[in-house]
Amino acid sequence: MEVDSHGKFIYSDTDVDRTEGQIVEELKANSTGIIPDPDQWLEEDLRENILLTSVDALLNWGPRSSIWTAICFPACCAFEFIAANGPRFDLARFGMEILRASPRQADLMITAGTLTWKMAPSIKKVYDQMAEPKWVIAMGACGISGGIFRSSYNVVPGYNHIVPVDVYVPGCPPRPEALIYGIQMLQDKIAKRTIAKKG
Ligand code: SF4
Repeated sequence: MEVDSHGKFIYSDTDVDRTEGQIVEELKANSTGIIPDPDQWLEEDLRENILLTSVDALLNWGPRSSIWTAICFPACCAFEFIAANGPRFDLARFGMEILRASPRQADLMITAGTLTWKMAPSIKKVYDQMAEPKWVIAMGACGISGGIFRSSYNVVPGYNHIVPVDVYVPGCPPRPEALIYGIQMLQDKIAKRTIAKKG
């Protein structure tokens, strides 16, 4: 490329350069205003009131945020559940401070205690009366496997022999923090449910 007496480049004066210059000049002439944000195409009311999500996320959000527990605590683990439900550990944070005496108004069974074969039919009846969808947390060694009473002739070696269990919380008894961790695991499980059937 040639350079003039002041050391500046001398650009060629070909048709290609002229056309390119013309395009640039037209763009400059037409670009004096600011292009609006695409969201401004929506009216103010719509912009502030539309939230996009999936059907699964919406339908799972309700149950996972308002799990109601059936009163069904056969033995000593129950006291740790009571502590978890008190003001210090505050299960109300998870929308589940309400205990239901009627299984028809509950969707969670927390098996806080040893289960004997004599009580097993009653536990199954309570579970069967709970409305779908429903979940079970096996709380404590007795709930998981019969615990220290496992070899006793009258003890059920785990609630999962009677009802389907979703989450197991080990301990004898588990502390409230452990139960709350189990509840959070259950919430995660509920959030992953797929309501729409896969084809
Ligand atoms: S796991 Fe321990 S605290 Fe819980 S019911 Fe069994 S013996 Fe009692």
